[in-house]
Amino acid sequence: MDKLVYHFDEGDRDQRDLLGGKGANLAEMTRLGLPVPPGFIVTTEACRHYLEHGRLPDDLRVQVTMALRKLEDDVGRRLGDSVDPLLVSVRSGAKYSMPGMMETVLNVGLNDYSVRGLVEASGDERFVWDSYRRLIQMFGKTVLGMEGDDFAKALEAAKAAKGVTSDVELDAADLRQLVEDFKVVVEDRCGRPFPQDPREQLDLAIRAVFDSWNTDRARVYRRRERIPEDAGTAVNVCTMVFGNLGETSGTGVCFTRDPSTGKPGVYGDYLVNAQGEDVVSGIRNTLSLDDFAEVDPASYQELRRIMRRLETHYRDLCDIEFTVERGKLWMLQTRVGKRTPAAAFRIATQLVDEQLITLDEALERVGGPQLAQLMFPQFDADAERTPYTRGMAASPGAAVGKVVFDSATAVEWAGRGEPVVLLRQETNPEDLEGMIAATGILTSRGGKTSHAAVVARGMGKTAVCGAEALHVDEEEKVARADGVEVREGDLLSVDGSTGEVFVGRLPVVASPVVTYLEEGLEPALDGVDDDNAELIRAVDRLLAHADSVRTMQVRTNADTGPDALRARRMGAEGIGLCRTEHMFLGDRRVLIERVILADSAGERDEALAALLPPQREDFEELLAAMDGLPATIRLLDPPLHEFLPDRAELMVRVARAEEQGAAAEADVRLLAAVDRLHESNPMLGLRGVRLGLVVPGLFGGQIRAVAEAAAHLIAEGHDPRPEIMVPLVGSLMELHLVREEAARIVAEVAEAAGVALEIPVGTMIELPRAALTAFRIAEEADFFSFGTNDLTQTTWGFSRDDVEAAFFAAYLDKGVFTTSPFESLDVDGVGRLVDIGTREGRRTRPGLKTGVCGEHGGDPDSIHFFQRVGLDYVSCSPFRVPVARLEAGRAVLGKEEADTSDDVEIQRS
Ligand code: ADP
Ligand code: MG
Ligand code: MG
Repeated sequence: MDKLVYHFDEGDRDQRDLLGGKGANLAEMTRLGLPVPPGFIVTTEACRHYLEHGRLPDDLRVQVTMALRKLEDDVGRRLGDSVDPLLVSVRSGAKYSMPGMMETVLNVGLNDYSVRGLVEASGDERFVWDSYRRLIQMFGKTVLGMEGDDFAKALEAAKAAKGVTSDVELDAADLRQLVEDFKVVVEDRCGRPFPQDPREQLDLAIRAVFDSWNTDRARVYRRRERIPEDAGTAVNVCTMVFGNLGETSGTGVCFTRDPSTGKPGVYGDYLVNAQGEDVVSGIRNTLSLDDFAEVDPASYQELRRIMRRLETHYRDLCDIEFTVERGKLWMLQTRVGKRTPAAAFRIATQLVDEQLITLDEALERVGGPQLAQLMFPQFDADAERTPYTRGMAASPGAAVGKVVFDSATAVEWAGRGEPVVLLRQETNPEDLEGMIAATGILTSRGGKTSHAAVVARGMGKTAVCGAEALHVDEEEKVARADGVEVREGDLLSVDGSTGEVFVGRLPVVASPVVTYLEEGLEPALDGVDDDNAELIRAVDRLLAHADSVRTMQVRTNADTGPDALRARRMGAEGIGLCRTEHMFLGDRRVLIERVILADSAGERDEALAALLPPQREDFEELLAAMDGLPATIRLLDPPLHEFLPDRAELMVRVARAEEQGAAAEADVRLLAAVDRLHESNPMLGLRGVRLGLVVPGLFGGQIRAVAEAAAHLIAEGHDPRPEIMVPLVGSLMELHLVREEAARIVAEVAEAAGVALEIPVGTMIELPRAALTAFRIAEEADFFSFGTNDLTQTTWGFSRDDVEAAFFAAYLDKGVFTTSPFESLDVDGVGRLVDIGTREGRRTRPGLKTGVCGEHGGDPDSIHFFQRVGLDYVSCSPFRVPVARLEAGRAVLGKEEADTSDDVEIQRS
């Protein structure tokens, strides 16, 4: 028979899957010999069995009996006995802590007999009756599913009858009567009495923990956080210890370091004469741990010793729950604590300095998402702030704007230059315009995968979602939280990195980490406070270490010289993608229009010739900025209609003019061209290499401009390293034709300039066919660059612009996606094509250089995949370069997720 129940001394911290996080750590502390009240754990496996079959495993009852008897023998007391009874707490505990699970039930085992035993043992009658009434209340609510209201009314009635207003004014006799009242309430509501049999109490509580796996809140949370649906929870049954037995008792929480800055030291709160949640509920003022040292020096000293022991053992920041019962310290919980991104970096390097962990381990403990958080502008931490409400940190950044409740107003106000925060219950595809116009988005419903969150992240826009305390009346244009009203036009500050929302305008400050990344260590350290100085040094050290271990290069996507320079300062080792379309816009648009409209070869060549000098200048600037490093230049990609006027506008203009006489001949010609080029699916139409092959001279002109720019720089003593990249290739022949043209032009330019010029020609792999015929395409390609944005679109058969706002939220909700395939690479489908393309390409051409230039190049999870596939480099936007450096280093160490949560909310549970 499977072992379904473990004593605390039978497990350890590596068994989180089986024993849950809380249980595994209780077991670990027991193993370390720390004072943990004895107890046992019912495994997640028992829960999975229950969830699957709808009933408990047959021998669970027996195993619980065995465990309970051993526990009773160990402590020398019996559950619910009438002399000195054993009482237990029943606590849920899954692998990851999750809201919505059953709340802990304390004092299980109390009944009409054991109350007497407890009175005798404790000598405190009021305490005992208070414990009993709390048990009935907690049990009623969490196990029997009653409303809290039922008990609240009875309590109010008791106080009213006595003419007092506060619970503490009720004496033992009052509480004893209250217990009777509560029992009546239970029987009334549930049609059955409060169970007197201690074992029945225990069994019902265990089952209730299992049932709580499927509460709505828990399910929603699992979906948001991508926790598997079938993991199940463990149940911890733990001997009760009492912090509410008078002035020599108490309960507290502490951290081994400050979880928001990482500062070493002791942080925590202690509450004298209190039990369980009293510390965090804020009902009474807590003592600092320094004060605790005064009140109970012996317990304090022991706690300090244990904290040091735990931090040494876990080699990380721990958070701890403890209770003192009549001067005896008990440990009730510990775990590796959550921390802010800044603290994560600081703690990791502190522990290296303390020689508790290696630099490799330190790198494993910080993640790209945390670094990204640190790079956003932030609200000034020193500014006075009025917290208004909070929700999920859905898309990072700091946004300040006037509140609007509908999209149209957002567009209108933003149009006249006023930053707005779009505040909605939730958004839908009709809000898209408003979301684009807004600087920040705030919703009262939905989580990290809601429409608002998905779309905001796609746009890189600050968003806080699911601020549940906020009541939004879109009709009346008013929102209320805690009685405070916000109306249209009021200022709100939205912190998408923490989920906090403030009334009014908070000052925004640049991130000191960005100053460091752009300007270097010394300038960044100038004038910052100690905390930020430590942070900057930590980031510097861990990035340097990532650079030293990583095997993939990090390039950037940059279209202009200034972008390239910026990315280079942030550590980019070349350009992976320079888009060239901007070189045909602005003043130059008329020239490309002339190319498109040309009736004769002569007219066309003239227009192309006019485009050459400005392009050459652009390329010179770019190549000079990347001097000595490779710069991959993509030939023109978008469909030509993007360079022509809007079809509808043009049609109206021509029709109007015709009504009044005759339309301008130029307009008529233009309209004919626009009509000719009109496509119903431009994404799948005449673009990329197709364009290059059917518009003579278009690619040739670009190639010549690149070659001439390079030749000129070489002549001046520079070291330009351009690479020409052909977009949207699907067949070998397409690439072959462009390559031939390139070879001819480059040779001509080299000869004319009298310099040696070698420009590699490669291709993007962004069509499934290209990936599937990579072994052939590689014959003509000097390199492959996976264009994973288009490859995602063409593999799935949807266009991002059309689908993301339309149905991605629904798809995430229904579990079709676990994450948007545009945010994180779809490893199974698109990733497979990347893998096939790489392997087959290298079969033909060993050592073929491969990279990725889609946005996925800056996404942590995707980067780990690219490492496994064996790509040579990733390329991403300049701002993501540091994130990619860090993750490429971590990918070598094989660490997918940061050990510590990037959840910035420091909460206990
Ligand atoms: P959570 O996960 O919400 O923190 P816990 O199971 O840790 O739930 O317990 C809730 C509260 O009850 C905590 O303050 C905890 O310290 C306290 N508690 C749990 N078990 C016991 C026990 N056996 N004796 C005394 N207090 C307990
Ligand atoms: Mg593309
Ligand atoms: Mg706890």
